Amino acid sequence: MQMAKLFQGRDIPFEVIVSDASAYVSPLRIRSPNVTRIRSPLNRSLDWKGFYPLHVVYNFLNNLEKTFPSTCTVSVIGRSVEGRDIKMLKISNSDANNTGVWLDGATHAREWISTSVVTYIADYLAKNFDSLSVNYTSKDWYYWGRGGTDHSSGDPNHLNYRGPEPFSEPETTAIKDMILYSGTPFKIFLSFHACSEAISFPWCHTADPCPDYVNLLEGGTAMAKAIFETAGRMYKVGNFKDIMYYASGTSIDWSYGTARIPFSYLVELRSKQDRFTLRREEIIVCCKEILNGVKALVEFADKKKCLNCSVIPKKLRN
Ligand SMILES: [Zn+2]
Repeated sequence: MQMAKLFQGRDIPFEVIVSDASAYVSPLRIRSPNVTRIRSPLNRSLDWKGFYPLHVVYNFLNNLEKTFPSTCTVSVIGRSVEGRDIKMLKISNSDANNTGVWLDGATHAREWISTSVVTYIADYLAKNFDSLSVNYTSKDWYYWGRGGTDHSSGDPNHLNYRGPEPFSEPETTAIKDMILYSGTPFKIFLSFHACSEAISFPWCHTADPCPDYVNLLEGGTAMAKAIFETAGRMYKVGNFKDIMYYASGTSIDWSYGTARIPFSYLVELRSKQDRFTLRREEIIVCCKEILNGVKALVEFADKKKCLNCSVIPKKLRN
């Protein structure tokens, strides 16, 4: 109410979207006498019942590496603009013939659910690796989250400022180098965002279909079908610019056009209703539906002959 008076006094138009924000945030942050703060923040572990800060996510990654040392590796692939280590988790049986799957979240800070989804999928794969089919074990899975510059704006004051030039941010440079120089032929690239409930693919900058339009549409539809069958949520599928808006310099135009990763998608997670403040009860459902979607995509992509994923042009390696 104080805020409302402040806005009214200055003739600033406003709209109340969430009247009680405490209903959405982690219970550990609510300072109410009825809520016991059981554990110190450092001891918290990821349980996909709330949203957690970076150190909890990094502890989770380190624990996976400790528990599953033969398949999980955490590495530091760069430093963020704030000087923090950029950590990446790789899950792999180290077979030289593996293809690569890239998953990233938290490119945009307020899209918390994207971190939940990426960590949930990593947790599932790490814990079940030995019992999974060859569709999953013949992949090098790379997980990353934090920082980035797509949905970009040229205005430095804009929330989605893209930076002064391509790969101007250390976070995106780290990803670019990682993908181009890993030696792994990547076949799938998934960038998780919120909150339009949509599976979109290149191009983002033009209305023209990209050369793999039909494959991408089919792969996206396979994902959407598995998502729908999980909990009845209908995600739209389509060319990014057809279902979202024109955007230049997005990560999927780069991953598809430059890194030549044939199945490149930008997935907008839940929720259209609550926007970026997804209700805590929906976190686990969203994680489950997306895990099923990713599995459907992996199986679909394995049936398709990979025409452009095995060779990254030499000039890009220099
Ligand atoms: Zn985003």
